Amino acid sequence: MEKRADIGVFGGSGFYRMEGVEEIKIDTPFGAPSDKITLTTIGGKRVAFLPRHGKEHQLPPHMINFRANLWAMKELGVTRVIGPCAAGSLQPHIKPGDFVICDQFVDRTRGRKDTFYDGPITTHISTADPYCPELRELAIREARKLGITVHETGTVVVIQGPRFSTRAESKWFSSHGWEVINMTQYPECVLARELGMCYVNISLITDYDVGLEGNPDIAPVTHEQVIEVFKQNNDKLRTLLHGLIAAIPDEPGCNCYRHLLDGRLN
Ligand SMILES: [Zn+2]
Repeated sequence: MEKRADIGVFGGSGFYRMEGVEEIKIDTPFGAPSDKITLTTIGGKRVAFLPRHGKEHQLPPHMINFRANLWAMKELGVTRVIGPCAAGSLQPHIKPGDFVICDQFVDRTRGRKDTFYDGPITTHISTADPYCPELRELAIREARKLGITVHETGTVVVIQGPRFSTRAESKWFSSHGWEVINMTQYPECVLARELGMCYVNISLITDYDVGLEGNPDIAPVTHEQVIEVFKQNNDKLRTLLHGLIAAIPDEPGCNCYRHLLDGRLN
């Protein structure tokens, strides 16, 4: 397939559509992606957009075919992937409405298909630093420019879902100092790396995780407030994405693609 996009964007909860010029259906050796992919142009860059839960949010986190989603992006020619997601806060100082540009993850998922290398080719990619340093820096800079409260680092705990954490689980995650909790960052992030693509996460904090309830520093929030924050986050994200995509240099200044080459055993 001819190269048709440079940058891939995965829409998360509440972010199901992007204005586009064309919608295409792609099939992959790993099955069908979550939905049709929208092709568009932003700031002179060719962008492919795919809502990871599908346009109608028909796919819960544990049913997303992450391999198909990433493979489809690669087939379109994408070299950089932006993966925003709705997330909960595990720390009082990270507030609903804040954005976190995560630099680490802790994988608490089970049984997800998280590699393209089931043999005979064996590959062990490094995930010591799983996120693209260049895209992280650009995302932080653009968020600051827009006056968004952004945390420059953060560890996202990725739980299997679809259930939320117990109070005990949440307290355990918080006690390690981990900041963010979500259900989709793994394996999206590592599959991008296995294909040699840069990946950046933008965690949009919607609410506090269950373990922080009852903390005297945390004011109780209503369901209406959560919905309002959720909507505002996605509005801010759309503006941020335009600035970020336009700022991405044509030639990467990072070594993300090398993780794939270094990981090959044969
Ligand atoms: Zn990179």
